[in-house]
Amino acid sequence: MKIKKIAIAAFAVGALMLTGCSGSGDSGSGGEGGGDGGLIGVAMPTKSSERWIQDGDAVKKALEDQGYTVDLQYAEDDIPTQVSQIENMITKGAEALIVASIDGTTLSEVLQTAADSDIPVIAYDRLIKGTENVDYYATFDNELVGNQQAWTVLNGLGLTDLEGNPLPDAPAGPFNIELFAGSLDDNNAFFFFNGAMDVFQPFIDDGTLVVKSGQTDIEQAATLRWDGEEAQSRMENLITANYSDGSKVNAVLSPYDGISRGIIGALTDAGYSVGDEWPIISGQDAEVDSVKAILSGEQYATIFKDTRELAKVAAGMAVSVLNGEEPETNDTTTYDNDVKVVPSYLLAPVPVVRDNVESALVDTGYWTAEELGL
Ligand code: BGC
Repeated sequence: MKIKKIAIAAFAVGALMLTGCSGSGDSGSGGEGGGDGGLIGVAMPTKSSERWIQDGDAVKKALEDQGYTVDLQYAEDDIPTQVSQIENMITKGAEALIVASIDGTTLSEVLQTAADSDIPVIAYDRLIKGTENVDYYATFDNELVGNQQAWTVLNGLGLTDLEGNPLPDAPAGPFNIELFAGSLDDNNAFFFFNGAMDVFQPFIDDGTLVVKSGQTDIEQAATLRWDGEEAQSRMENLITANYSDGSKVNAVLSPYDGISRGIIGALTDAGYSVGDEWPIISGQDAEVDSVKAILSGEQYATIFKDTRELAKVAAGMAVSVLNGEEPETNDTTTYDNDVKVVPSYLLAPVPVVRDNVESALVDTGYWTAEELGL
């Protein structure tokens, strides 16, 4: 009787999480929640970026709080490693898989093995492509992330507010801008870049923004594995090839904080200094070093995606499926993985500039004032 009651209580917590309410999640330790102590495999791409460490920890905790055992693995951005980690999870008897892929197109075979054993699969933040064997997708509104990245750039240039509304007395420009995109094997990279370009296009068309390098295609702007060093050398090349005539880069679209740090390195090496014609640079993920860079004026903005909320949604999806329930979704049209449209739950991203660092990141408990050096 007691066990049943506890199981119902934990089930209710799972349902609460699914509806987006933030329960404390401290509903019990491993083995005491709604789960049967069964194993859930969680595959994350890399520890080289802070956000994935937080994602992994948060998903693990959410599942353990509900009585599951978690096998959490990081693949250091190596595709065969991620495939074999998932194979191992299946061999160990995982009841469900939560996967943030490195390359969204390389998991079809291993996910067929999962499907053959009736193991449900939740795609975590990055869409898994080219397979019918992905059941649900938990992510943020990725197109809106791209829009917001562009709006933060326009805001830094004095052209619009953070929602893209024109500002009075906006300068005429022209402003020189260079564009960076993420890794082409990550579906999100297209949503971010296209979302940003939709916002920029009218400003490019009327001459307010000038992409001096002419590199406006995602293939030209892409950064394999979102690698900061690769971005740094591309930025160095862009500066040398296009700005040796004394003209200045006024803005850089960057899709991710690690890439922004590479761009900042290249600009610094090229003799730019903060406060003196330093460009407006965007970002994403609210990583500590980049939030500090926002406070010091090196980076203009980032996009905050609360990984704690994403973890709750993804864990809740897995638990619901295991309980024979249908997880809550709020988008059933956008994320076509080339085989099917994957039912998704999209969370809302939040643009962060210096003025709202405290309210968005400290007041919400994401970072402490101390961690940010405030
Ligand atoms: C995520 C971003 C992240 C990027 C690099 C994307 O799939 O959505 O939040 O910045 O990967 O890790």
